[in-house]
Amino acid sequence: MAGLPSSGGIPPSADRAQPAYGAHLLAYAGIPSFMRRPATRELAGADVAIVGVPYDGGATSYRSGARLGPRQIRAASTLLWGYNAALGVAPLEVLRLIDYGDVAVQPGDTAQTMGAIAQESGVLLAAGLSVVALGGDHSITLPLLRAHAARYGPLAVLHLDAHADTWAGPPDHSTTFRHAIEEGLIAPASYVLVGMRGPLWAAEDAIAPRELGALVWGADECLTLGIPAVVASLREHLAGRPLYVSLDLDAADPAYAPGVGTPEIGGLTSHQLLQLVRGLRGLRLIGADVVELCPPYDHGDITAVLAANLVFELLSLLALQLKGQQP
Ligand code: MN
Ligand code: MN
Repeated sequence: MAGLPSSGGIPPSADRAQPAYGAHLLAYAGIPSFMRRPATRELAGADVAIVGVPYDGGATSYRSGARLGPRQIRAASTLLWGYNAALGVAPLEVLRLIDYGDVAVQPGDTAQTMGAIAQESGVLLAAGLSVVALGGDHSITLPLLRAHAARYGPLAVLHLDAHADTWAGPPDHSTTFRHAIEEGLIAPASYVLVGMRGPLWAAEDAIAPRELGALVWGADECLTLGIPAVVASLREHLAGRPLYVSLDLDAADPAYAPGVGTPEIGGLTSHQLLQLVRGLRGLRLIGADVVELCPPYDHGDITAVLAANLVFELLSLLALQLKGQQP
């Protein structure tokens, strides 16, 4: 093994959470669980679970295909080496990460699917694991927030998205955050939306998230004032509470994320998203999702690679947190 890079970054001597399916193989070989972690439902001893939610029945706005997202993010994850130089941590040397596989979704039945997401993520949280979910469309976030709020109480939420997803209506990918606020899952004055832009249905749509209590950083403001200013603001706003991060990939510009369900021009770059996520270091991250990857519209895996890397950054934050708790 000496000298051969190990996809997933775990040295062969690490004896916990043994890499699955040939981690000694090259990135393009073998069976792609997320970063080659064990694909298992054995929760004992695990810290974090990757959970796929291959559901796009809550996406009625434009183009479907996000059901194929989890598999594609896993495939892209085999190229993630282990060490995060920007954050100074090798997450898999700290975290015992498992790939839980996918939630038992029911195509076309959002209510039943949401029940399954809440139930299965609830089991993981009750066992003491953190959940990082791979979407799926943005409807999957509501039951994830329900499960997290049931365990942690009202949450601080960072929502990265071109869209507010605060329309009124039954649960789907465009109403998630209105429901979450109205159900009390998000703590008052602890909700930040970053990246909003694009033509709206009506003028009220620009006001709705603010009326619901969101601090909104539109994409224009982010690009004009710069990400460090955004990070300073959201750190101030989100500190002191358990933080859930919901990352809709259409926060990125279509040049950086063509493979999404509802693309909007004028968005953030890949690097700006990395800066934003890394800027959360030190906050109390308790869970996250990366949603709306729509592989049929992706090109050269641009969006899938971005998604996998953003998950890697989130895992790095969780690792730093766990490290900080160790004696
Ligand atoms: Mn969304
Ligand atoms: Mn969106």
